[in-house]
Amino acid sequence: MKDTQLYQQILGSTSPWHVAAVRLDAAARTIEIEMALKEGELWGCPECGGAMHMHGTKRRRWRHLDSCQFKTFVVADVPRVNCPTDGTQTVKVPWA
Ligand SMILES: [Zn+2]
Repeated sequence: MKDTQLYQQILGSTSPWHVAAVRLDAAARTIEIEMALKEGELWGCPECGGAMHMHGTKRRRWRHLDSCQFKTFVVADVPRVNCPTDGTQTVKVPWA
């Protein structure tokens, strides 16, 4: 099993995201799970739920449950939407 498949199993369903890469830093004792998206996804505004297209992204990092003694983080370029009612919002992600 590839490490990306392994972490996909650990995270469970992350649709429409998938695990794109897993980076191990042995010296820093960290693991980073890089999430990626398919193009063209429509997003819901987190405030009003209206569907809209991506309007840029914001790099974010979340602490996840550790893998043995390694600090584990999930990282992703999270889409932002520009809602006519609520302004610029960062969409929700299934693991946060
Ligand atoms: Zn909205």
